[in-house]
Amino acid sequence: MMQKNKRFCGPIMLTFSLRYFLFALALFVVELLIALYVHDSFIRPYVGDYLVVMLMYCAVRAFIKITPVKLAIGVLLFSYVIEVLQFFTIVDKLGLSNNKLAKTVIGFGFEWYDLLAYTLGVATILVLETVNRLKTNVFSKKSGHTIYAVFLLLGCGFTRTCIGQDSFKIYKQDVLNFWEAYDTLLPGSDTAAIFQNLVINRASKPFKQFIINSNITSKNYAEQIRRFPKFYRSLRATSLKLIDTEKEIRLLVSKLRNLYPEIVPADICIGIGNFKTGGTIHVDKKNRLVYIGLEYHAVDSNTIVSEFNSSMREYFSRSNFFRTVIHELVHVQQETHGRAVRKSYHGDKLIHSVLKEGIPDFVASLIYPEGNNGIYTEYGVQYETELKEKLKTELWQSGTKYWLYNSKTVVGQPIDLGYFMGARIANAYYERNRSNTDVIKQIIELRQIETFVDKSGYFIK
Ligand SMILES: [Zn+2]
Repeated sequence: MMQKNKRFCGPIMLTFSLRYFLFALALFVVELLIALYVHDSFIRPYVGDYLVVMLMYCAVRAFIKITPVKLAIGVLLFSYVIEVLQFFTIVDKLGLSNNKLAKTVIGFGFEWYDLLAYTLGVATILVLETVNRLKTNVFSKKSGHTIYAVFLLLGCGFTRTCIGQDSFKIYKQDVLNFWEAYDTLLPGSDTAAIFQNLVINRASKPFKQFIINSNITSKNYAEQIRRFPKFYRSLRATSLKLIDTEKEIRLLVSKLRNLYPEIVPADICIGIGNFKTGGTIHVDKKNRLVYIGLEYHAVDSNTIVSEFNSSMREYFSRSNFFRTVIHELVHVQQETHGRAVRKSYHGDKLIHSVLKEGIPDFVASLIYPEGNNGIYTEYGVQYETELKEKLKTELWQSGTKYWLYNSKTVVGQPIDLGYFMGARIANAYYERNRSNTDVIKQIIELRQIETFVDKSGYFIK
């Protein structure tokens, strides 16, 4: 009797269970592999959460004597508390946004699916424990161990096959939603309300993100459809053709993987927005997203662009859907691989911005050399010597007005020549260092800007 009371109220009973310790270790290795190598939108966020509760359970059971049900409930409550802390974005509130450790431990981003994953994980533990208890009565201990070993091997095999796969999604429903809304319009109808209902409210999850990031609004849709009627009438055919190119897109991504095996995939969302962006990315803890705006990249020789001003027409002349997919995907790599790279890109020197945009353009031109690259390349090739001289003196100054993002300020020459110059520097580096098998990795993950420029030899001669 005394013994029993002690179990409930006494100090924590320490123990050591080799079996749970080994389980914990195996799950830890699986989690580590997922963290390092799996960058999809299912295994990493959800299977990771599902397994992490099992990991916590096994780790505690390895050292503390406690009944399965109590521990399982404890682990579940603990996970819920962490997730709720994320809901209140506690990291930011505590002023720890820049604290890497706090971010890793508490994480960011609340999701109902996480709670589901934790609950399923704990439910699995209880089922396995029950099966195990019944089984030890029926089978010998030896066969029990064999069953566990098989489970573990299956788990490892499953993880292994997930690593290195082109596991990304292509979202195209938002383009279809756009045309559905467009076709609903009648003289006198409330365009904004229709686009709000059929495009914005029904947006896919990634498109929702870009609606926020790029401030896409139903009012803008209404205004633009009123101003550019010929444009929209002539845009449909190519836009529908492009969302039907999933096979080509996957082929290009696998070509990039061949050049750069470290690639992390990103889901690709194709939409029609408000001329805010032709391509952009979003990277956070759970998502890696590429967005392509077809109001820019479905423009071809059949599209009527006469309703626009000359700088917009110049943007249109550069439209290249496939190359933009790769360009943005390279941005995702720059954002993902190494903080040093990321930080250096946010520096205020011209060379940072020029390389940030030029490198994706260079890589994209290796993967997809076809098609039009816009007037800025023709002009760039013709005046490269002069441009090089000018850029050389401005490389380490701040301000990008002459070279980049300059559609409103530049006169008498193409916009965004900095993209072209950055791509030329990357190309020079590539030509000079081709004998290194990881030259593309060096270019994409660019760590030391000064060394990179020196080793490119672009400004010598
Ligand atoms: Zn870019």
